[in-house]
Amino acid sequence: MSLKESLRKLKENEKLSVKKEVKKELKKIKKNSQKCIICKNQQARYFLKGAIYGYCKNCALENFSDLSYLQKK
Ligand SMILES: [Zn+2]
Repeated sequence: MSLKESLRKLKENEKLSVKKEVKKELKKIKKNSQKCIICKNQQARYFLKGAIYGYCKNCALENFSDLSYLQKK
C-alpha cells in the first residue's frame, strides 16, 4: 500500500470513528433529556435496573424509600 493510500484510509477510519462518537453522544443526550415518568416535568435521573423509565429525584424519593435500588444517571 502506498503512503498516499494509507493516509486516505486513515482519514476514512477517522471519519468513521467520529461518526460513531457523534452517535454515542446523541444517544447520551437523548437519554439525559428523558422526563420523569411520574410528574413528566422534571428530568429523569433515577432508573430502576434495566428499566426504560426514569424518575426525578422527588418522585424517586416518594416511590422508593431507598434510592440505592435505583441507578443514578
Ligand atoms: Zn418526577
